[in-house]
Amino acid sequence: MTTAPTWSNSGPRSVAEHAAAIAALLPPTGVERVPLAEASGRVLAEDMTAGVALPPFDNSAMDGYAVRAAELTGASDDTPVTLPVAEDIPAGRTSVPPLAPGTVARIMTGAPLPGGADAIVPVERTDGGTERVRISAAPDSGAYVRREGEDTTAGAVLLRAGTVLAAPQIGLAAAVGRPDLAVHRRPHVLVLSTGSELVAPGEPLAPGQIYESNGTMLAVAVREAGATAELLSFVPDDVDRFRAVLAERIIASPAATRPDLVLTSGGVSAGAYEVVKDAMTGHGVRFGKVAMQPGGPQGCGRLDLGEVSVAVATLPGNPVSSLVSFEAFVRPALRAAMGHPAPHRPVVTVRLSGELSSPADKRQFRRGVLDATTGTVAEIGSTGSHLIAALARADCLIDVPADVTTVADGSPVAAWLIEP
Ligand code: AMP
Ligand code: MG
Repeated sequence: MTTAPTWSNSGPRSVAEHAAAIAALLPPTGVERVPLAEASGRVLAEDMTAGVALPPFDNSAMDGYAVRAAELTGASDDTPVTLPVAEDIPAGRTSVPPLAPGTVARIMTGAPLPGGADAIVPVERTDGGTERVRISAAPDSGAYVRREGEDTTAGAVLLRAGTVLAAPQIGLAAAVGRPDLAVHRRPHVLVLSTGSELVAPGEPLAPGQIYESNGTMLAVAVREAGATAELLSFVPDDVDRFRAVLAERIIASPAATRPDLVLTSGGVSAGAYEVVKDAMTGHGVRFGKVAMQPGGPQGCGRLDLGEVSVAVATLPGNPVSSLVSFEAFVRPALRAAMGHPAPHRPVVTVRLSGELSSPADKRQFRRGVLDATTGTVAEIGSTGSHLIAALARADCLIDVPADVTTVADGSPVAAWLIEP
């Protein structure tokens, strides 16, 4: 079994080709049943039907009095009608006698309507009496009565498989009595950064060293995409160390904890110490160029670890390259694997504020800030793929097609909305 992509010898892959290669490494995840409280953000794996009608019984929409409307014809402020209160019906009362003619029942919101009653008079239109009540309104039949099944009938399909679950859908599931739901499993991603220059945040920094940022950033991005992430301790540019860390985590652990994807950063370009490339070349992972900027050097495949193999996507080390690559390739693949009907970021077409030039034959993703009131986007920072401070202030990626070399002020551009 191999989905190892071939990098044609004739040049770089397009963004779409590399996205397809990574998506092919992540087949649909299985289905699991989760309690409602854990279902947020998950994708429903089967149609959800109503176990009960909603409302399940005729009930009152107001605090007031259940009446026979015909007995109050002509009642008004000037000509009130006084009737005996035969019953008190709070919400939650499960057995309610029918309403005797010539009487009313005091009733609370959500309480079952007694047989024979056909309308509710809100308490505000009465004197609020408990033995006898003076009523100053003549309700229409059906007034303030919530009918059984008016929201849904029992057995109706309420949510289709493929629905993304959020608070309203989960509330509905609870309302029809479901304690849990069948959803697609979240893919599990191991994140591993590489680089001998890296130091953990909080530690002292020697000259020539930088703080490790991709690992945490990518793990968070994985979780925001709806998958689960496990951040391994970053490794120096040492092929044996790198392989040992992966082998220990993947081969030595039970099959059930194996990741769906290993996501690395760094060590894939054209330098002398490209640890990821050196450790994986010839073992099922292919490396090459994608015609994009940032994020040109990429790799993916199924890494052969002897007894097992594991899907791998190798992202370049510059933080902006890493995150843009994640957005372009990994996030949509993870979301598609967990059944998401809209795996891609929303894209809007807006007018560029300012002008920009872009290299020929490379699709460029520039960092942008949208102005919703004017429908425009402005670039923030510049093209340097190390400029993480500008990335952190951006709310979109301006997608400049490969065949475009200049974009004039005011021209339409596509922007990927990247905020969670
Ligand atoms: P590489 O892809 O390993 O050649 O790294 C490219 C650039 O990204 C270098 O300047 C690295 O120092 C930087 N870099 C690589 N990995 C990380 C990381 N995990 N966190 C922050 N910067 C990194
Ligand atoms: Mg490196």
